[in-house]
Amino acid sequence: MENAGERQMPSSIPHRIVVVGGGAGGLELVTALGDKLARHGKASVTLVDRAPTHLWKPLLHEVAAGVLDANAQALDYAAQARWHRFSFQQGSLQALDRARRSITIAAVFDADGFELLPQREIPYDTLVLAIGSVTNFFNTPGAAEHATALDMLEQAEHFRRRMIAACMRADLSAAAQVNIVIIGGGATGVELSAELRNTAEVLRAYGMHHLNPRRDVRITVVEAAPRLLSALPERVSRKTEELLRQLDIDVLSGEKVSEVRADEVLTANGKTLPADLTVWAAGIRAPAILGELGLPVNRLGQIVVTQNLQSEADPDIFAFGDCAACPWPEKDSTVPPRAQAAHQQASFLFDALKRRLDGRPLPDFHYRDLGSLVSLGRYDAVGNLMGPLIGSTLFIEGLLARMLYFSLYRMHKVALHGWLRTTADTIGQWLQRRTAPRVKLH
Ligand SMILES: Cc1cc2nc3c(=O)[nH]c(=O)nc-3n(C[C@H](O)[C@H](O)[C@H](O)COP(=O)(O)OP(=O)(O)OC[C@H]3O[C@@H](n4cnc5c(N)ncnc54)[C@H](O)[C@@H]3O)c2cc1C
Repeated sequence: MENAGERQMPSSIPHRIVVVGGGAGGLELVTALGDKLARHGKASVTLVDRAPTHLWKPLLHEVAAGVLDANAQALDYAAQARWHRFSFQQGSLQALDRARRSITIAAVFDADGFELLPQREIPYDTLVLAIGSVTNFFNTPGAAEHATALDMLEQAEHFRRRMIAACMRADLSAAAQVNIVIIGGGATGVELSAELRNTAEVLRAYGMHHLNPRRDVRITVVEAAPRLLSALPERVSRKTEELLRQLDIDVLSGEKVSEVRADEVLTANGKTLPADLTVWAAGIRAPAILGELGLPVNRLGQIVVTQNLQSEADPDIFAFGDCAACPWPEKDSTVPPRAQAAHQQASFLFDALKRRLDGRPLPDFHYRDLGSLVSLGRYDAVGNLMGPLIGSTLFIEGLLARMLYFSLYRMHKVALHGWLRTTADTIGQWLQRRTAPRVKLH
């Protein structure tokens, strides 16, 4: 296999780097490449995304609960492109022609069905795939039809509106109860459950319903593994479960969901849970299009990459973030699908692509697991920190955990806007929150 790191790139024609997917990893990468390479004419950098705006995916459960206004946090790709010297093309990845080194992206239509942008071909010298992941329903009957997934902003917004409507409807009904079932006791399911408890209380405070938010809005988290947050240390799980119970959130561990119906969830152990709203937060897989590109993928459909994030089949194609299966030799596994990993890989690739342009060999990527933090909204946060300075693992909770949790998003914003603008933004949003309802009410 050719070592692309050693290939000398012609210096007269700018090298064309095309990054597909402007998410947690992709947008950080094009911003850095635009600033450092495109600005000096060393490469042309193009970002492709199916959406016109970027929202950091770990915020989606806050949008679903209504505690975060997506419009205030969303970033226009076109504006970011102008500020950071890359170009932006909106459209979904449709096909890859490796022989011609070009991708095809789909036409874009407006809400009335009129074509805004035609189908296009975009040539590349280096292609980077960073299109994230989608919910994995594991072929559970009824799940795709009746459970909400939190993959996209539209789904989170839809859930938020349904939650408000369910509370208002229950207010008028004899049963006077809303049942919410969250399938998956990982970080997303746990965080969503706590946020929804808060939402139920705030909606009541604003007079949107008159239910008892603790007793009448029943929230249940169902987890197939014996404990919540099974990927994290046991102490974090125990503490989280204790905190959820204090919030009157029911936790059913060791219960595998066997079917989702319009108004109930069935488990393999024979339990039937009434469900006005069901959320599926139990696992991911790669978007189906990756299996159609002719590149090797694993059983989750992720692109199989080498230790330097190149596709095993084609050194001109890189993949990272949730859509890539990158080896994690220390754990004899692959790098987990986390914003933390996408962030580290974006920094790695920025450096690796500069080397590639210079014809220097590519380094290897090594994932550093810095631990995980789980936010229980305004109530608490809990997690573990890891790293060379800490030793093995350090349990944290309370204010420190909450501050560190928010620092993950701040790091992303700093990568996109620098320290100054991020600080100004943070202050602006803090002031705005003082004058807005604590939950989006419509
Ligand atoms: C509710 C929720 C909470 C989470 N909380 C945390 C957390 O606290 N900490 C943590 O580390 N991780 C968290 N995660 C996981 C984290 O969001 C992902 O690991 C991370 O976003 C992956 O980054 P990425 O760049 O690979 O993909 P993404 O951030 O998902 O970005 C993918 C981009 O590709 C675009 N795209 C998709 N398909 C196409 C296509 N066919 N053509 C063109 N563009 C396309 C999308 O529009 C998107 O912009 C959470 C996830 C969810 C859903």
